[in-house]
Amino acid sequence: MLKAPKNLCFINGAWRASSSGTTFPVINPATDERIAEVPALSQADVLGAIDAAHAAFGQWGALPARERASLLRTIGDLLLSRREEVGELITREQGKPLAESLGEVSYAAAYLHWFSEEAVRVCGDIIPSDAPGKRIFVLKQPLGVAAAITPWNFPVAMLARKMGAALAAGCTFIAKPAPETPLSALLLGELCEAAKLPPGVMNIITGDAPMIGAALMSSPLVRKVSFTGSTEVGKLLIEQSAATVKKLTLELGGNAPFIVLEDADLDRALAGAMFGKYRNAGQTCICVNRFIVHESVAAHFTEMLAAKTRSLVVGNGLERGTDVGPLINDEARDKVARLIASAEREGARVVAGGAAPAAPSRFITPTVLSGVTSSMDIWREEIFGPVSTVTPFRSDAEAVSLSNDTSYGLAAYLYSRDLSRALSLAEQLDFGMVGINDTAISAVQAPFGGIKQSGFGREGSKYGIDDYLALKYLSVA
Ligand code: ADP
Repeated sequence: MLKAPKNLCFINGAWRASSSGTTFPVINPATDERIAEVPALSQADVLGAIDAAHAAFGQWGALPARERASLLRTIGDLLLSRREEVGELITREQGKPLAESLGEVSYAAAYLHWFSEEAVRVCGDIIPSDAPGKRIFVLKQPLGVAAAITPWNFPVAMLARKMGAALAAGCTFIAKPAPETPLSALLLGELCEAAKLPPGVMNIITGDAPMIGAALMSSPLVRKVSFTGSTEVGKLLIEQSAATVKKLTLELGGNAPFIVLEDADLDRALAGAMFGKYRNAGQTCICVNRFIVHESVAAHFTEMLAAKTRSLVVGNGLERGTDVGPLINDEARDKVARLIASAEREGARVVAGGAAPAAPSRFITPTVLSGVTSSMDIWREEIFGPVSTVTPFRSDAEAVSLSNDTSYGLAAYLYSRDLSRALSLAEQLDFGMVGINDTAISAVQAPFGGIKQSGFGREGSKYGIDDYLALKYLSVA
């Protein structure tokens, strides 16, 4: 057994069990093994965490930014120094191949480092006034207590991205990781403790999501909530935020198109497709959902994609050579199985894979479906599994309208050798992020986020810190 984190919550600088004594299990999705029990906090415990974060805010927000930056950098360095251990923990609780988990740890640390650098560059403005002798000063101030509700697909990186921005801005922070993957999140508490972050600045709480969500959303002390997860829960949080008028950042579902124009470099498109589709077993919100391919190259590209898809090795993420791990849980497997079956029933053709496993296996054979049309469920729903769908198009206008035929607007991809044509199409795509000849679009320097029902607000980049700041203007006569 690896050196596990303490399997307790981190509140006000101390490790806490639930005051009710209850816990819930964490399961390895590859083996079904129970790997830990973590606290199911009571509502009183959650309110205690909010009070601790609130009490810590005054001093933390007033600390010179350089000191906050230095602490964030230390936490990032500590995370990197435990990269192997955290990576293994991510694979055990989440299932992704170890190489991807190690990549996630580096990516998470990069957010802490990035925001430690941003912390010292939060600058206001002085604006000329029309009235003689008057001055207008603009200050940027931290909002107060910020809370994060994070998903299981990138348990450390999503948390680090939010925590980095919040702490850099001068907010104090409460994190509620997903119940499937609390361990790697709780481990961040150990790093904060080792870095001597002041008590109450970072709090990590686990337990019943609707109860914790409601407690955070209804508290007037929590001024900001950043959420990454399903559109369904995001909509609920918007409703719940009304009572206290909270500032929200929402990173919700996606339904990414991947357009292949007839002039694309197909080898390059294939490489991008494999990364953009099968990473994390297809369980990322920017994973390709729909390959939209010019009819003149559709058959050829589908064959290339099918051949490469058949070569993927499915297995336990801790085993060397595994390309695709298990899906996170039984519901995820059942959803993907349902989408494959309904697409087949509606006329799609299975070109690779196709056999959804019987329970209890959560390993889905990577699958390619051709002849997918816009009337199918698999076209509209976020697949969140290793299944590719291919749909042909005739004109650029049709490629754009097919791509935009979704209520989501997170990521889109476009492959072409003609950059000016690609740019013109990219401008017409209703998505927050467009990769042109690229699917590796996540980067700490770039603003991550969507439009339409994929949410609002941006994370990472020079813009990400703004979501945790309020503008205050001083009119000086
Ligand atoms: P998924 O279906 O992919 O797990 P969710 O949106 O359900 O996506 O989960 C994302 C995060 O939202 C997780 O941390 C989960 O515990 C949390 N969550 C789920 N339901 C609620 C809720 N009613 N209120 C607040 N958070 C919730």
